[in-house]
Amino acid sequence: MATVEFEEARRCPRCDNPGEQKSVRPAADRSKLYIFTCQNGACVWFETDWVVQKLEDGTVPVREASRQKTFPQVPGMTQEKAQRQLEETIKDEERGLRGR
Ligand SMILES: [Zn+2]
Repeated sequence: MATVEFEEARRCPRCDNPGEQKSVRPAADRSKLYIFTCQNGACVWFETDWVVQKLEDGTVPVREASRQKTFPQVPGMTQEKAQRQLEETIKDEERGLRGR
C-alpha cells in the first residue's frame, strides 16, 4: 500500500501549507482520522476540510483526499456539500475496513 508522511498528508492539497488540525477521532482498525482545515486566506481551499488517516503503526495510506490534488474544484460545491461528501466517504471507508 502506498503511504505518505503524516507531515506531508497534513499539508493542504491545494496550497501545500500545513493545515490546522480541527479534530481527531478513532476509526476502524484502530487507525485515527485527523480532520485538517486550510487556514490560508489566499487558498481556494480556505476553511475547507480534508481527512488524514493515520494507521496504528503511524503510516498514512494515500487516500481520496490526496488524490483530489489532481482534481479541479467542482463548481457549485459548497462547504456544506463538501463536508457531507467527506463524511460519506469516511463512512464508506469505515464500512469497507470492517468488511475485511
Ligand atoms: Zn490551502
